[in-house]
Amino acid sequence: MTSSPTPPTPFDLPASELTTRLAEKPVAISPKLLEALSAIAPVSEEVGDRAEHGRDWWPIAIGWAANGQVPAFPGVVIRPTSATQVADILRICSQAGVPVTPMGGRSGVCGGSVPIFGGVALDLCGLNAIHEVDETSLTVTVDAGMFGPDLERHLAGVGPGYSVGHFPQSFDLSTVGGWLACRGAGQYSTRYGKIEDMVVGLTVALTDGRLISTEAKAPRAATGPSLTQLFVGAEGTLGVITSATLKIHRRPGAEARRSVSFANFDEGLEACRRILQRGATPAVLRLYDEIESKRSFGVERCSLIVLDEADLHLLNATMAIVDEELSSAQVEDLAHVDHWLERRNDVSQLAPLWRNHVVVDTIEIAGSWKDLGGTTARLLDALRSTEGTLTASVHQSHAYSDGACCYFTFAGRPTAVDGDDPMEAEARYYERVWKVANETIVAEGRAVSHHHGIGLHRSNALQASLGSAYDALVAIKRTLDPAGIMNPGKLGFGGPAQ
Ligand SMILES: Cc1cc2nc3c(=O)[nH]c(=O)nc-3n(C[C@H](O)[C@H](O)[C@H](O)COP(=O)(O)OP(=O)(O)OC[C@H]3O[C@@H](n4cnc5c(N)ncnc54)[C@H](O)[C@@H]3O)c2cc1C
Repeated sequence: MTSSPTPPTPFDLPASELTTRLAEKPVAISPKLLEALSAIAPVSEEVGDRAEHGRDWWPIAIGWAANGQVPAFPGVVIRPTSATQVADILRICSQAGVPVTPMGGRSGVCGGSVPIFGGVALDLCGLNAIHEVDETSLTVTVDAGMFGPDLERHLAGVGPGYSVGHFPQSFDLSTVGGWLACRGAGQYSTRYGKIEDMVVGLTVALTDGRLISTEAKAPRAATGPSLTQLFVGAEGTLGVITSATLKIHRRPGAEARRSVSFANFDEGLEACRRILQRGATPAVLRLYDEIESKRSFGVERCSLIVLDEADLHLLNATMAIVDEELSSAQVEDLAHVDHWLERRNDVSQLAPLWRNHVVVDTIEIAGSWKDLGGTTARLLDALRSTEGTLTASVHQSHAYSDGACCYFTFAGRPTAVDGDDPMEAEARYYERVWKVANETIVAEGRAVSHHHGIGLHRSNALQASLGSAYDALVAIKRTLDPAGIMNPGKLGFGGPAQ
């Protein structure tokens, strides 16, 4: 069976009664454009369909859904099944100045696929074919709308069995195109890399109706700047990824696990740094602060779980380094790793918390080892000292030789004043806590996102974070999308140029 998007929570009103929370001036779709779109691919104007395509998993929108609000309605939803159809849709929408918001699983957590200027919701889930599995070079060429489980199921059935090795927590909810568009990271990234390390080339539909391939059919090339990487992380603002060639791996021959703890988070970070800098890259190397260790494993210290999978010789070498570097840590129950594996994709707590008026979200930053401990402590302080915060905690989730990603979780219950609607108090708290967080991260000079991306929610932080380099991105945007129709309002870009 083919996967499909999973909404974060039901709307608490019939779709026809939902109000719009965010819409800028929606751009109208003329009858002529509607007719031209319908001649390319199936078009839906049904209100429930438009409502589902008007939101993603941006946490605050869960609270809105519970209160009968949708972030924004697209004018129509269109469902192409081929790259040529996607290119044709972009061409006519660009000529008409009508916004196009590409979307896959709609599991983004930053409002990246919310069509705030209305227009066309481009549902890419119908692009879901595998084009080629190259068992010699170990690559797969796959359509952008394919979901994680469908891709892995297919690869497991080819020859001896293969895997891409990309397992985000949203594996069941997300597509290949969304992984690439957001520069995603899987939970096994320390061995297999982030999605930008896995991609070999792309086919991209541009707003002038052209389809371009960025694939060199070679492992590396010195043929100018990487155009593949230009579209990886562009979040649908420069063009639409219609298919991708990704590296694959033979299924690993062996697996090993470890569970230890440290007296404090900095000590644990230091051990992770030493492991990575000796060249060992265990697939999973997750370090939790005291709060998360207690919550997940009942441990009153800072837990580190390690899991690797690889050819036996490589695994043994990796684990020998891991064991040496963890020799002074306290050994914990190996069942902690099983516990993590069993619950790692469980997202069932999010909607009940929001529905219970607890504002909860996560912030994933990246920084070099030299500064990471200090930034982590200061960001936790900033989150905890924001009025309304109940708790803030952190774990290290993805590690590299030069630094790592620290992943923060905060929860707050703001007090409504003067009979204020609780939803408005929640919105103010959410805005406040994110502003404080982004300002802290930008001031410290760290990456404001490691893998969730920018979307709508972090648009201002991106400009602040890139500084004068942001102008180069604007220039590229103007060249590739002169009418400004591609996912307007995201990455800090404005509305369509009409
Ligand atoms: C519970 C939960 C856990 C998560 N865990 C992780 C995690 O572990 N790692 C991680 O990296 N992310 C994680 N995410 C975030 C999210 O799942 C990822 O960003 C994912 O890659 C989005 O894929 P999608 O198909 O759902 O894209 P969508 O949400 O549909 O779109 C995301 C963005 O990509 C653009 N886009 C989508 N498809 C294309 C395309 N083909 N061409 C051009 N642009 C496109 C959209 O316009 C939008 O800007 C999590 C999300 C949730 C809800």
